Amino acid sequence: MGRLQTEVSELETRIEKDTARLLRENRNHVFAVRLAQRAQQEIDRVKEQVENRGVRFDCKKGCTICCRLEVQVLPQEAFRIARVLRDRPDREFLVAALAEHVEAHRGVTETHKRNFCPFLVDAACSIYESRPMACRKMVSLDVERCKQMGESVPSDPEMAFKSEAIIKATRKAYARQKLPNQTHEMIASVLLALTDLSAEERWWDGEDVFANDAPPPA
Ligand code: SF4
Repeated sequence: MGRLQTEVSELETRIEKDTARLLRENRNHVFAVRLAQRAQQEIDRVKEQVENRGVRFDCKKGCTICCRLEVQVLPQEAFRIARVLRDRPDREFLVAALAEHVEAHRGVTETHKRNFCPFLVDAACSIYESRPMACRKMVSLDVERCKQMGESVPSDPEMAFKSEAIIKATRKAYARQKLPNQTHEMIASVLLALTDLSAEERWWDGEDVFANDAPPPA
């Protein structure tokens, strides 16, 4: 087994074990949602480590190419974003914008027909601190190639494999606690989490609350 494979495997084991233990020791939905941040920070840490070995990513503030792609989130990530947005003074306006985006994208699968993510404001992510793992792992080695590739970005292998391992381990840990762990489209999921205040507790009780509302993955 090569060095990278060993590291990926060890990372996956560690994250699954730690996450499952924390969920076991803190049995409530508020904690389970807050814990989303830990996995997201693990992805940020991998990015730092990759940069420390000399890799230069080409992403810069103001580049918005990948904010047109469909984003899949874990339930706890959707609830985390909704918790951040719930107290915003422009909440009603935001709910309307999310609903409009969901309606406009029913059945749309081609990236060039998609609008930008409604969280993109003035060419920057307005939920940067709580953006999901799918956005964090999307770091490009060559923006010029992003412009041509459409659905994927040219990625560093360590960044790609370790990010996937973190997501997989997180899903397994939540599944071990009998929590629905399927990913769903982000905007429809956040919209539901914002407008249905019973959703978080129903998820905690084992219901895949986003299954019916979110459009299927493209
Ligand atoms: S959540 Fe932020 S980073 Fe992710 S697609 Fe939307 S604007 Fe872009």
